[in-house]
Amino acid sequence: SSAPYNIEFRMRRGDGKVIWVWDRGGVAEYDEHGKAILLAGIVLDITEKKINQQQVERLAYFDPLTGLHNRAQLECVIKQTIAKKQDDSHYSAVLFLDLDRFKLLNDSYGHHMGDQLLKKVAQRLASFIHPGHFLGRFGGDEFIIVCPSIESEDEVTALSQVNTYANQVIHAVGQSFILNSGYQEEADDCEDIEYDIAVSVGGIVFNSPQVSMGYLVQLADIAMYRAKMAGGQQAKIFTLDSQNELTYNSHLIRDMRSAMQQKNFHIFLQPKVSAEGKLIGSEALVRWLHPERGVLVPESFIDQAEECNLIIQIGQQVLELACQKLKHWQQDEGTKHLTIAINLSAKQLWQSHFVEQFTNTVASYHIDTSKLIVEVTESLLIQDIKDATEKLSALKNTGIKVSLDDFGTGYSSLNYLHRLPIDEIKIDRSFVQDSTQDPQTELMVKSIIELAKNFNLSVVAEGVETPSQFALLKRYGVNVYQGYLFAKPLSDEDFTGFMARNAGAISTLVAN
Ligand code: C2E
Ligand code: CA
Ligand code: CA
Repeated sequence: SSAPYNIEFRMRRGDGKVIWVWDRGGVAEYDEHGKAILLAGIVLDITEKKINQQQVERLAYFDPLTGLHNRAQLECVIKQTIAKKQDDSHYSAVLFLDLDRFKLLNDSYGHHMGDQLLKKVAQRLASFIHPGHFLGRFGGDEFIIVCPSIESEDEVTALSQVNTYANQVIHAVGQSFILNSGYQEEADDCEDIEYDIAVSVGGIVFNSPQVSMGYLVQLADIAMYRAKMAGGQQAKIFTLDSQNELTYNSHLIRDMRSAMQQKNFHIFLQPKVSAEGKLIGSEALVRWLHPERGVLVPESFIDQAEECNLIIQIGQQVLELACQKLKHWQQDEGTKHLTIAINLSAKQLWQSHFVEQFTNTVASYHIDTSKLIVEVTESLLIQDIKDATEKLSALKNTGIKVSLDDFGTGYSSLNYLHRLPIDEIKIDRSFVQDSTQDPQTELMVKSIIELAKNFNLSVVAEGVETPSQFALLKRYGVNVYQGYLFAKPLSDEDFTGFMARNAGAISTLVAN
């Protein structure tokens, strides 16, 4: 007799339903040639047991809400990806996604809506990601995309590819979602609402097998957090070297906080002169007087200050110092005509109480506000032109002047120039520098000046370094000049010295 069989298989029942069966038995009868002619055994319908088992397996690897890979599965995929780096020199990436202001949706519409959105985001991401990439829900409103192999063997290209990919993800999630405000069953109070959500993406690009899964996820998470701190709806991608920079930045931020408390942020004033070479005012440029490192220029700390929002306090400090100086100048006949321009960061302007705080500060100094200028960049205005216009108009109503900084470098949408609440434009120093070298640039500078004049805007040229640049700009009618030709940004003391030297000194310089 032969061994009994013991198998599980799927079969279609007479009524069309597919069931799982467990079948066990053996041969009961043979013919004279030894061939089996009768089997005996039992067949059991185990469909239900099978479904339960599959569910258990599913739960172990998939997220029940979205159907995506779950955290455990993602971690497993990342570990495998690292292991493969042993004999693969291509780069890999882990992207950490976190929805911006998701809590707001949950808090204002309830978890039902939150869950619905998560499902829709998951669907959209799933239909979007490249084949070969893994998408999963890491927890809450966090998703992870694992890209096991980027078609690139050098870090710079890999970085830029991942950056592009991350921005495509941000764009895809940024398109409106249609959510249903009622419960599915209660059709009568169902209402479709269009909901916009943004996502911040942090990424880590690597090609070394010498990293742990936990470390990669942690770096991607920090990168995501940085993207969020920088305003959200953007991507920050790190490499394994970023760790050094991260430590440097966190120390820098800590130092800046204490510098703020110890009032180590000061302003240097760079003179602005008229076409006749007469001193008419200045631009306040922030300097960090570092106890060990000396005078630090904005280049070495301003990005980090923006990122951790400390720029708001620094900006407030700069405003107060500028007002103090104006007040001081306005007590003297010889200096009361002088202006001070300060630079405004987007972070300051986007505060909801910005106008109130700014105007209150200025009011407390009892100064002639027409001598205070705020410089804003075009890219700042363009982010939310309505809000910016309203707030800057409110400042203008108190007599403060508004200047459009770095003109020519941004969008330079000349067609809306006349609708902006501005008094002057500042031609960027790159144009000033090229104007005497390149006829195209010269033509552009000429057109910018003409256009500004048509809109009754005053024109300032910054970064004027040579007499020939000055002569050219003067020929085209620039009103105000600033640059190393006249002076660098000066400390308080040096500025006083500069004023003391007679105006004739500047005139001589200008006459060449
Ligand atoms: P910006 O507003 O375009 O300021 C002009 C920059 O050009 C200054 O650099 C100034 O030192 C430099 N500069 C002036 N004349 C010349 C010249 O003839 N040739 C050249 N090559 N450069 C010249 P600085 O002081 O390092 O400031 C850099 C940037 O930092 C500023 O650019 C501004 O965007 C930002 N910044 C400075 N102070 C503040 C502040 O208080 N708040 C904010 N939010 N940003 C500030
Ligand atoms: Ca400026
Ligand atoms: Ca500028």
